[in-house]
Amino acid sequence: MDADDAGTDLARVLLTKEQIAARVAELAAELDRDYAGEDVLLVGVLKGAVMVMADLSRAMRIPVSMDWMAVSSYGSGTKSSGVVRILKDLDADISGRHVLVVEDIIDSGLTLSWLLANLGSRGPASVRVCALLRKPDAAKVEVDVAYVGFDIPNEFVVGYGLDFADRYRNLDVVGTLAPHVYS
Ligand code: 5GP
Ligand code: MG
Ligand code: MG
Repeated sequence: MDADDAGTDLARVLLTKEQIAARVAELAAELDRDYAGEDVLLVGVLKGAVMVMADLSRAMRIPVSMDWMAVSSYGSGTKSSGVVRILKDLDADISGRHVLVVEDIIDSGLTLSWLLANLGSRGPASVRVCALLRKPDAAKVEVDVAYVGFDIPNEFVVGYGLDFADRYRNLDVVGTLAPHVYS
């Protein structure tokens, strides 16, 4: 669905489909250079990273493998607690492999910092992160993110994989929701 389909649910479009596609292509080119000749495993974090994983991996020219993890970070509230549970673990053994974690958004950084420690303990050759979005003003822990699509303001966003109550993931833009949607 596009911004017109979302109608009055969207308050503001932050990133258009074209802006996202252009930036994803740039990131893919960077990854092609940095990982040329290496055995790379892209690890997508479900469910938000599905769109960026699909587009980024197809924009890349080098062969990659893909795997998925699902983690829960939010419990009942809307704030990240840093308490993370693995809902679905990797199928792949990552020891000795170059792992690139593909994320939708880095907010507090708590989920990611837990994930990096967890993956790091499995003996990979390297672990880096590629996130489509990052909210620098929301950071609670410093996480080294090697590849960032866009730094955005500290507002709740939906679209391009990101949901509110499991909706708006299939929106082709990234935007903020109108207040009436929350209430
Ligand atoms: P963190 O642990 O960095 O605070 O948050 C990690 C997860 O929270 C993200 O992967 C994402 O699923 C969710 N999240 C954080 N900020 C937003 C946002 O602005 N919109 C949506 N839809 N999800 C968010
Ligand atoms: Mg995520
Ligand atoms: Mg969500």
